[in-house]
Amino acid sequence: MEFTVDPNTLDVKKALAAGKKYRVIYERPACIGAAACVAVFDKRWEMAQDNKANLKGGWKIDNDVWILDIDDLEYEDLKTSGEVCPVNVIHVFKLETGEKVI
Ligand code: SF4
Repeated sequence: MEFTVDPNTLDVKKALAAGKKYRVIYERPACIGAAACVAVFDKRWEMAQDNKANLKGGWKIDNDVWILDIDDLEYEDLKTSGEVCPVNVIHVFKLETGEKVI
């Protein structure tokens, strides 16, 4: 699935005003339960009973896709989570520009 982040939308502006820098978008339906994300950053990832990861603190939008806005402090760990995910279902975008980091 293709995702985009539009810096001109109200929710992104609000997130930026609150000091957030990046948006994590997680496609939970495509998770295969490898748990690599949990190994990298268990502060934000945990395995659920259906053997898919949950994004702790995130909120669910349509079709079990999850979103979480983060600041610089968690950026590296969440980017690494995306890098180690074997099915590339963890995406990270820069809020200010909408650029996809991973
Ligand atoms: S690394 Fe990817 S596939 Fe594995 S549990 Fe995390 S999100 Fe799911």
